[in-house]
Amino acid sequence: MGTTLKLLELMLRQKLLGQGLKGDPNTPLIVSYAVTRACNLSCLHCHVSAREAMPDELNVKEAMHAIDEMANLGTQAVIFSGGEPLLRKDFILRLAQYCEDNGIIPAMLSNGLLITPHVALQLKDAGIKAIGIPIDSVVPANHDHLRNLPGTFKKAVSAIQTCIDLDLEVIVTTMALKDTFNEMPKRIEFLASLGVDEVAVYDLIPVGRGKDIMDQAMSQEQRVSLIRWLQAMQEDTEMVFTMSGGIPLYPEIAMEMHRSHGTKPKDLLIKEFWIHHGVGCHAGTLYFSLRPNGDVYPCTFLPIKVGNIREQSLTDIWRNSKVLNTLRQRSNLKGKCGACEYRESCGGCRGRAYACTGDYLETDPVCLHDLMVEEKVSPADVKRFGWCVG
Ligand code: SF4
Ligand code: SF4
Repeated sequence: MGTTLKLLELMLRQKLLGQGLKGDPNTPLIVSYAVTRACNLSCLHCHVSAREAMPDELNVKEAMHAIDEMANLGTQAVIFSGGEPLLRKDFILRLAQYCEDNGIIPAMLSNGLLITPHVALQLKDAGIKAIGIPIDSVVPANHDHLRNLPGTFKKAVSAIQTCIDLDLEVIVTTMALKDTFNEMPKRIEFLASLGVDEVAVYDLIPVGRGKDIMDQAMSQEQRVSLIRWLQAMQEDTEMVFTMSGGIPLYPEIAMEMHRSHGTKPKDLLIKEFWIHHGVGCHAGTLYFSLRPNGDVYPCTFLPIKVGNIREQSLTDIWRNSKVLNTLRQRSNLKGKCGACEYRESCGGCRGRAYACTGDYLETDPVCLHDLMVEEKVSPADVKRFGWCVG
């Protein structure tokens, strides 16, 4: 069974049995766990400014204890990331297996450089269900420029092919930037030719080294055309698109566009989580990020420490953090987001708001309000969210 189908099954079961979300909407369904800050690349847009390992990264015993707590809290999927997680390969293999044993789906984000057929097989055997690998341009030199090392395009393509050959689910992550925006149709065509069927398009959030290249962020006009273009593409292809990096409502907007245009997506619905209430930005409500040293952030893109699992139990942090509880009450939002009719279903990207204003409750400057009104997205009907995690 494909990962997404399994996720859907888990969600449905949870809903039908009245467990998990019901009665307690604040369940950390997805956790992003950055196992190391070490990286074999230094990408220009890296949101964690990865390079060297932190001196005090969690050991296996500590990480397993965290996974035990996640299982008790209702976590359904853990996405291992970094840095480059395969720089701690044995650690990942043990933790993936441990997640499996605890009923949690393990997935991973990697730059692909260390994925050989042998490593891919080891990951598959350990239970990793899906791997996110980046391709940022069809022009190898453009991809290599962003990744800051020649030859990375070739290696990423080879990693994708290796994983697909082994029947591992591959989600290609791809940056949509101002200068490479026009090549998006070619890029999607290229990925389709590799056999890729899931693409997560990333918008740039000014966090980490990403702050230094914000002149490369898409204009609002480009962002809106990209959303419309992806939605139209969805009619003709089995390929599934989602948007990440602070566009959590993409699936809902795309679905509403299909409804009002009388068109149908082939496969969009099964790729997102359904929930029984609006959520939008899920930082601190259905998701958190565990850092290599045990710090907990509401989201990878919202680097506010809300606790450390060496000093406090994860359960205590999740339930009692002042910041997390503040995020869960949208009436706390300020500015345009605070007064918006989409406040409960969208809430704006709290990471972008923090990066741009210094206040995580302030207005998200990248707002799709006008597009949602134009496309008749009803605030009350928003019941799903995409993979807005890094
Ligand atoms: S103002 Fe914009 S970003 Fe904020 S909640 Fe409304 S639609 Fe979302
Ligand atoms: S802060 Fe919210 S909207 Fe922004 S990337 Fe994180 S989960 Fe997505």
